[in-house]
Amino acid sequence: MSYDLVVIGAGPGGYVCAIRAAQLGLKVAIVEKRKTYGGTCLNVGCIPSKALLHASEMFEMAGHELPHFGVVVGKPKLDHVALMKHKDDTVAANVNGVAFLLKKNKVTTVQGAGAILAAGQVEVTAEDGSKQVLETKNIVIATGSDVATPPGVAVEFDEKVICSSTGALALDKVPAKLIVIGAGVIGLELGSVWRRLGAEVTVVEYLDRILPGMDGEVVKTFQRTLEKQGMKLHLSSKVTAVEKGKKGGKVTFEPVAGGEAQTLEADVVLVATGRRPYTDGLGLEAAGVAMDRGRIVIDEHFRANVAGIYAIGDVVRGPMLAHKAEDEGLAVAEIIAGQHGHVNYEVIPGVVYTTPEIAAVGATEEDLKARGIAYKAGKFPFTANGRARAMRVADGFVKVLADAATDRVLGVHIIGHAAGELIAEAAVLMEFGGSAEDLARTCHAHPTLSEAVKEAAMAVDKRQIHM
Ligand code: FAD
Repeated sequence: MSYDLVVIGAGPGGYVCAIRAAQLGLKVAIVEKRKTYGGTCLNVGCIPSKALLHASEMFEMAGHELPHFGVVVGKPKLDHVALMKHKDDTVAANVNGVAFLLKKNKVTTVQGAGAILAAGQVEVTAEDGSKQVLETKNIVIATGSDVATPPGVAVEFDEKVICSSTGALALDKVPAKLIVIGAGVIGLELGSVWRRLGAEVTVVEYLDRILPGMDGEVVKTFQRTLEKQGMKLHLSSKVTAVEKGKKGGKVTFEPVAGGEAQTLEADVVLVATGRRPYTDGLGLEAAGVAMDRGRIVIDEHFRANVAGIYAIGDVVRGPMLAHKAEDEGLAVAEIIAGQHGHVNYEVIPGVVYTTPEIAAVGATEEDLKARGIAYKAGKFPFTANGRARAMRVADGFVKVLADAATDRVLGVHIIGHAAGELIAEAAVLMEFGGSAEDLARTCHAHPTLSEAVKEAAMAVDKRQIHM
């Protein structure tokens, strides 16, 4: 059997690419070594983490917020089995949905581990060891990423006491104490889940700040909020050992600047120090595919250095985000089909699903200063937004950064309730090259949180009304 396209890996990059290519009339097969489709994102990433984040937010709300609305329900009790069932059911509905979509679009699914024999040939090894070779005109590698451990520290995951994000999504009870290594998005989201459910959470981070790459002012505000919520943060701290003890885990760390080491113990240790591109067993070296620090090197059309081989998603440069992988999947499918697929890397939103949420698109103030770009900033707090006050979610603000000369919006940063939803209008505006004035003159429904986005745009020219 010969194909126009074989996609290796059925995560958000791979399955979206396969479906789009099939829509465009190509004969497509997708190879996946997991039993279910959707990759990291649907199985052990975005979707299960958001199921637990929402459930734990409801738990915390029932305990602390509902009485303020006159809703008296008593002290909430956690049903751990139901909590995990909600997460598992959500994952199942999503991964089954992808299986349905692949079938609906007549994409051939092949279960097993794919390896590239040469351009045009993918060998698939099934679980029982049997092999088949798929002949194809084009190959898209979308094999994603895997957990990375801190450099120079030996970590043995048992996914019960010493956990990666995968284990931390499936704990069989709420740990009394949890140590999170790494104050990036995954560490803070999963730390928030277990803190809301009752764990004492301590975060150990190498850098002197949390959430590297995000706007400094947003991060400062968020750091104070996390500490108020009871999360303990050890910044500028280098982890030197992660060990399993008799009852739980032990983490040893020392100040980055030098000084005395200390060891903390906890029931569970979550190692959340990032992810590495995953290309194990793909045969890339033998196929002559060029790599750079573990990533497959591609040009602006997602082409590797070997003709007929493309790569997208976590396995290539750029932010490791599901929607970035999806958009690259769409673009590469269109390019292979002879169209002009394109991804605008200036406008890729990023969201942290904590309380409050954080969302950003485009440049930070730090980026603009480093690039010597003159800009104006407009800021509006949710304390001055009627809907936010009515919902008791008045923490945070919206910040719009616009080019000082042209008024074109270069970045938008939001910390506040539903920031992840609010950021979408900023992304659309920026995709169209819109200005702060465009946003300020667009009618926003009242009362909505989105009025704070409009007011921040008005504040760029100091003409906000409600502050
Ligand atoms: P993946 O989703 O990793 O999929 C790759 C697939 O390839 C896997 O199914 C794998 O089994 C398969 N595969 C690998 N090698 C082979 C082979 N040789 N043969 C066959 N199959 C193979 N991103 C967001 O945008 N928002 C979030 O809220 C978010 N939350 C996250 C939370 C957690 C806990 C984690 C871990 C990640 C989160 N991410 C989030 C990141 C997101 O999951 C990834 O960016 C995204 O899944 C990358 O998609 P991908 O298609 O490149 O790869």
